[in-house]
Amino acid sequence: MSSAPFDGNRRLPPLVNEPIRSYAPGSPERAALKSRLAAMEKECPEIPLVIGGKEIRTGDIEKATSPHKHGHVTATWHKARPEDVKAAIKSSAEAQRDWSTWRWEDRAAILLKAAELLATTWRPTMAAATMLGQSKTAFQAEIDATCELIDFWRLNVAFAGELYGEQPMSSQGMWNQTDLRGLEGFVYAVTPFNFTAIGGNLPTAPALMGGTSLWKPSNAAILSSWYTMKLLIEAGLPPGVVNFVPGDPIMISDIALSHPDLGGIHFTGSTTVFQSMWKTVGNNISNYKSYPRIVGETGGKDFIIAHPSADIAGLATAIVRGGFEYQGQKCSAASRVYIPKSIWPEVRDRVIAMIKDIKVGDVNNFTNFMGAVIDKRAHDRITGYLADGKKNAKVLAGGTANGETGWFVEPTLIQTEDPAYRLLCEEIFGPVVTAYVYDDNKWAETLKIVDSTSPYALTGAVFSRDRKAIHEAHAALRNSAGNFYINDKPTGAIVGQQPFGGSRASGTNDKAGSKMNLMRWASARTVKETFVPATEHHYPFMDAE
Ligand code: NAD
Repeated sequence: MSSAPFDGNRRLPPLVNEPIRSYAPGSPERAALKSRLAAMEKECPEIPLVIGGKEIRTGDIEKATSPHKHGHVTATWHKARPEDVKAAIKSSAEAQRDWSTWRWEDRAAILLKAAELLATTWRPTMAAATMLGQSKTAFQAEIDATCELIDFWRLNVAFAGELYGEQPMSSQGMWNQTDLRGLEGFVYAVTPFNFTAIGGNLPTAPALMGGTSLWKPSNAAILSSWYTMKLLIEAGLPPGVVNFVPGDPIMISDIALSHPDLGGIHFTGSTTVFQSMWKTVGNNISNYKSYPRIVGETGGKDFIIAHPSADIAGLATAIVRGGFEYQGQKCSAASRVYIPKSIWPEVRDRVIAMIKDIKVGDVNNFTNFMGAVIDKRAHDRITGYLADGKKNAKVLAGGTANGETGWFVEPTLIQTEDPAYRLLCEEIFGPVVTAYVYDDNKWAETLKIVDSTSPYALTGAVFSRDRKAIHEAHAALRNSAGNFYINDKPTGAIVGQQPFGGSRASGTNDKAGSKMNLMRWASARTVKETFVPATEHHYPFMDAE
């Protein structure tokens, strides 16, 4: 089926950021979410693969559990076999033949409908799945699984409209046009555990532009990924446009990355995994039909640097919210802070006081500010960093972890006197903030340290009330962060407002949810039509004088 005939430049509905709901006591959204959470706790869906619109049950089954209650099974899911991956690639190619002939507005309509479903009937389900499966609080689930995913779907449509509207000039007697074709082959979309919205965005952005995707969701976010897939199907996504293939990432990647039809990679996750995928593409480069587009948003070691003029209450709050929300498991989480000696005692005491006030526990209890970290592997890794902090630095607050019923880690503040200490350099991906206190007269030197301490360049913030100091930080840290904040925490980017992505080891910086990203999924064809062709091959300069 290709698009229905339609003449007219269609005007898009107004596309704005989805308003964030408060979930305050007594609000209708709180009641709806609580009731969906209670029901979902009793459900245990058996999650299939979806290939060419068909549900596939392989019989090779794994269990998914709640991070904050790891004895509780939230779902079981079928793992892909090699033949399923091959079938998904074939199905993507078949679906693409028809899908790429649809008018873009008809593809867009599916994402706009998906956004509307998510904003209404699906809202409690997607939030509850993200809470139970990934241990997000109600608010963190709202800003991720609901608002950010709605924003990706709606605003990508607006950005695609702008891209399609960008047409070349034409001189007299001809008509020049740009045809933005979806990528040939399939896009391999590999998504991380920490944002349900990224799961929904990575396979659909290439689809909006006329391509098709093989989506390998994160095993640790399988529940919310499954509901995302079901929602897309309900919104009318045709069979094969997104194939849902959970399973062993190494086996699936080996098949997908060596296939001649690989059109692109849309990845978000850790730096090491992305680098290994890029290497595989390099090794296979002569086997592909096209050069695969490679887009990857990866790790971070995000900073806050304070000037002596910083507003102390704002700074302390940014450290706590930026460092500990979602247990520090945001790629943008503040994890290294640089504070001048003169204000350190007050900043430290405020942060410690807030940490003491933070409740960590089951996200079903809405008074908790933090849930659990994602799994045992993360718990062990973070516990290792805590042990290092106790041995080689000073733990000022928190510092303990408990994995008995859930993978809990206390919010932790550590101080070091060594600017090259490993907790200031490596991505921990947990609720651990390390502080380095500098002499007030070493502002310029400290900016250099911030810039050169880690291989990443994702997010960072400066706190200052002195405009000259802000200018200096701006200049010295120009390449240290793809998202730079002034007097704000380095987390919480909103689609359309703060396009997100970093450079250096943090990724290709194609800014998820922007025109820059969508352009990576289009291959431009330039069309020149001459109305009256030349009929004489001689040029005037060739005439005899
Ligand atoms: P991860 O790298 O462990 O996993 C990401 C995805 O890659 C998952 O689907 C996983 O199954 C798959 N994968 C794992 N090993 C693989 C392999 N050998 N070959 C192919 N695929 C493989 O990351 P995660 O723990 O899910 O997410 C956390 C990481 O993601 C952090 O480093 C964080 O900074 C990063 N992240 C970055 C951004 C950003 O926008 N820059 C956003 C979110 C998360």
